[in-house]
Amino acid sequence: MAFQLSGTPRSLSYCHCSRCRKSEGIFAAVLIGNAEDFELVRGEDQITRLTPEQPWTHARAFCRMCGSALGEMRTGGIYVVAASALDDDPGLRPTAHLNVASKPAWYEIDDDLKKFEGNYVPPSG
Ligand SMILES: [Zn+2]
Repeated sequence: MAFQLSGTPRSLSYCHCSRCRKSEGIFAAVLIGNAEDFELVRGEDQITRLTPEQPWTHARAFCRMCGSALGEMRTGGIYVVAASALDDDPGLRPTAHLNVASKPAWYEIDDDLKKFEGNYVPPSG
């Protein structure tokens, strides 16, 4: 499968929620942008989407061919994409840690980026 992003993402953040941790390692680097800037180029049939049980609300997608985590992909008015799935540099650098309350006790954040206890979606523009 392949997807393409246009424009500039709203943010690049590290997500520490338990689901990102379990699918991508210690945490996931997550790009958030406007839904209209996300285009699925090919391979819709190769994408598996997992809809979570409550209390989780965010779906998770991965490539059935290679197992790569894809993030939530398009959801509502935004896209949420695993930065690890990109071939190219998205052109911005991480600015925040999300869902810090869910990070494992054995992992210490040792940078000065903003920290959000829960989720945070930056406003458009
Ligand atoms: Zn997460």
